[in-house]
Amino acid sequence: MCMADIIQLLPDSVANQIAAGEVVQRPASVVKELIENAIDAGANDISITIIDAGRTLIQIVDNGSGMSETDARMAFERHATSKIKTAKDIFEIRSMGFRGEALASIAAVAHVELKTKRETDELGTRIVIKGSEVELQEPVQFQTGTSFQVKNIFYNIPARRKFLKKNETEFKYILSEIYHTALSHPHIVFTIYKDGDLYAKFPKSHLKQRIVSIFGKRLEKCLLAIESETSICKLYGFIGTPETAKKQNYDQYFFVNNRFFRQRSFQGAVMKAYDSLLSSKEYPPFFVFIEVNPADIDVNIHPTKTEIKFAEEYNIASIIESAVRYSLGKSNIVPSLDFMDESDYTDMFSPKSSGDFSMPSTKVNSSYNPFESTSAGTSGSNIKHWEKLFEDFEHTPEPDIPEYSRQMSLDSEPQHIHVPQATCLQVQKKYIITQGKTGLFIIDIKRAHSRILFERFLKQISEQELVSQKTLIPIQFDVDYTEFEIISELLPDLQKMGFDIEIFGKNSFVLHGCPSDIEMTMLVDIIRNFTGVYAENTQSMKQDLQHQIATSMAQSAALFRNVNMQQDEMQQFVAQLFQCESHSLSADGKPAVVLLEYDEILKKFN
Ligand code: ADP
Ligand code: MG
Repeated sequence: MCMADIIQLLPDSVANQIAAGEVVQRPASVVKELIENAIDAGANDISITIIDAGRTLIQIVDNGSGMSETDARMAFERHATSKIKTAKDIFEIRSMGFRGEALASIAAVAHVELKTKRETDELGTRIVIKGSEVELQEPVQFQTGTSFQVKNIFYNIPARRKFLKKNETEFKYILSEIYHTALSHPHIVFTIYKDGDLYAKFPKSHLKQRIVSIFGKRLEKCLLAIESETSICKLYGFIGTPETAKKQNYDQYFFVNNRFFRQRSFQGAVMKAYDSLLSSKEYPPFFVFIEVNPADIDVNIHPTKTEIKFAEEYNIASIIESAVRYSLGKSNIVPSLDFMDESDYTDMFSPKSSGDFSMPSTKVNSSYNPFESTSAGTSGSNIKHWEKLFEDFEHTPEPDIPEYSRQMSLDSEPQHIHVPQATCLQVQKKYIITQGKTGLFIIDIKRAHSRILFERFLKQISEQELVSQKTLIPIQFDVDYTEFEIISELLPDLQKMGFDIEIFGKNSFVLHGCPSDIEMTMLVDIIRNFTGVYAENTQSMKQDLQHQIATSMAQSAALFRNVNMQQDEMQQFVAQLFQCESHSLSADGKPAVVLLEYDEILKKFN
């Protein structure tokens, strides 16, 4: 017996309805698609009319390019688009749409009327379509641009219509779609009418004004700019100060090439930068715009396109975190800048760099000091800024800088600064608390020490300036094979840093001296530990060799630091720390200083 073939091609109207299931999930999806089309058509004025949360009517009128008579008809065909021509173009997408399925889908599940006219045409075109069937096409008087009316959505899919949520909710969805596009296109005028009344109008503006006109004046004084430019991406936008945080994360927006998207890892990166400033249940508003080469993202993974794959996801997350951290630091909210000085930045990206990798740059003022109450200074050294820290203390005696009293600090400190200094208090053998101009500093001793040592080591390596204290008796010590390999290889640099080490036969060294302010009694442990830290660092951070040696040795020496300090010693220590270029971070980039602002303290007492 012969069986008939059973596979058939679906009629267009059915295929469109199936596709519509994905593209048109609710009235808000229609609003989104139509606004995006208007933007792609070059409109700078878009008006949106919504009746019954879109159940009865959605109308979008734009002043964009308009369409020819033939294009107007073609626009409703599935996979009809003017935006890409070949598969290759998908990787160069700059427009909002490109799939050519929105209009076909919308027309499959609603009554649609299109009116459109190009500037060069005398008359426009009017087309009426119901459930994919063209009911009417005629010439019409119309201004340049396009108007879409979408009525009775899901009239032919009762289940869908029934499952729409109550008007209030559906209107919220619509608003959020409008906000996405309005935020990413502040130069476009948006006018929203709801059930016959003017609901909102966003005039042509800049990003910050647009944010304020959408989210309210409350944000006006509480937005901090973020900005960064690397070879991987360009980043800009605004973040809210911690006090603007809310219990929900509704006002958190990411855009890539002006397209709204969601990405957990990026959201996590922003939240991480706020770290200790917020509790885990508080969400600051942010509006982060990323620009990347379109070839480095894949927008083609979901028809509603709010999930986007990034080739450089991990690196971009780090860039976001740094930029937010920097912005918060700059505005005196947290002393955690300098994280992105150029050397750190390069390190972050060098592992993946290919031949044509260009040096990422970011606008960072390395002499900026977060401890000043005025905004970032543009000139001068850290020392100058640093002096201001203490300048308005009530009693400002000018003490003689005491000799650094530790037994092992035989040589002089690199720089003596004569500044009046506040009393320091040591807490839990771990922290130093002291007062600054705008608040209390809480300094993590070991981390801070690693910073001081790191910067000094690095300087010594490059300047060949040898500062070393001699041991009374040479110390001989044995090591295992790997330790021997590492130390002998790095010997010249270690010597420059002040570690006076010599090879003493097989798997053995002898030590004649070490840099000042290193715990000499711990010297052997420090060096042994150094080899471990160094081995780990070579794997995790791709810094240049000297950075790596300096970081590792600084970490190692700080670990063995004796934290019992005298008053004068603490003051000297604080002075040294604030002379460092990145005084707020440990050698390996962790926070070393926390600023507890007087304002904050005052608030707590109220
Ligand atoms: P896509 O936007 O993915 O290309 P659509 O189905 O949304 O697909 O639109 C199909 C085509 O119709 C677009 O490529 C564009 O040429 C045209 N079009 C749609 N809306 C407008 C508009 N408001 N102004 C001018 N042309 C439009
Ligand atoms: Mg489109």
